Amino acid sequence: MNFKISKTETEKQINEFFSDIKNKTSKEIKKIKKLAARKKIPLKEKRKLFCKKCLTPFSGKEKIRIKNRRKSTVCDNCEKVNKWKID
Ligand SMILES: [Zn+2]
Repeated sequence: MNFKISKTETEKQINEFFSDIKNKTSKEIKKIKKLAARKKIPLKEKRKLFCKKCLTPFSGKEKIRIKNRRKSTVCDNCEKVNKWKID
């Protein structure tokens, strides 16, 4: 028996997960990241929804700074400054 799920199915699962990201735990995010990596699904914009270091989802209350086309968000949990380029 083959219980492997298809890439499309995994993508759907990931999209559903991220639509409710604020109620997820860092542990669940770690799992979904692994799943995406295994199926080679790029998270793209979704990566900006949680802290790179502790994987805590952002609540939207974090300090956000935009400077030189870079956006930085300070994690409330571990105080890591997450930086992204703005396209
Ligand atoms: Zn953090």
